Amino acid sequence: MPTTITLVQGDITEQHVDAVVNAANSSLLGGGGVDGAIHRKGGPAILAACRDLRASHYGKGLPTGHAVATTAGRLPARWVIHTVGPVWSASEDRSELLASCHRESLQVADELGAKTVAFPAISTGVYRWPLEDAARIAVETVRGTETEVEEVRFVLFDERAYEAFAVQVR
Ligand code: ADP
Repeated sequence: MPTTITLVQGDITEQHVDAVVNAANSSLLGGGGVDGAIHRKGGPAILAACRDLRASHYGKGLPTGHAVATTAGRLPARWVIHTVGPVWSASEDRSELLASCHRESLQVADELGAKTVAFPAISTGVYRWPLEDAARIAVETVRGTETEVEEVRFVLFDERAYEAFAVQVR
């Protein structure tokens, strides 16, 4: 069955889904933007799990384009899938890394058995990726990935982001 892509304008921490994807940074120790919101709302269990992952596997940090899951703590989801988006660069094409974030997150979701997965607009905040281009890469990658995930829900924080994704999904 093909994956259904849905769009919501809102807050990803309020989504009742199996897994929420976090636009993390490689330290896994929390940051601003969507990362800060997920840790605030999900509570300390998420940070504790991230610290354990650092100690056991990612002493040098989670590499850009990779994804790893933890508990979702008090969020209305079962898991958080942390992925590290690339910082936008005008001089270097890092599209493959942004695509990899989406592909790897779906692979982790499959390993968990997650059927509904919410994604934020990875790399479009502090990492400055142009929204229209990020939306194209995100949607094309999800469409091109073999997965058992039934619904990918892009959760866009504001109207501009929502419109950028809507153009791709129409
Ligand atoms: P990055 O470092 O990958 O750019 P950011 O968290 O700075 O990550 O921004 C990624 C996107 O997430 C931005 O479009 C930002 O507006 C959006 N965002 C911030 N908070 C939330 C939230 N609570 N729910 C959904 N999206 C959010």
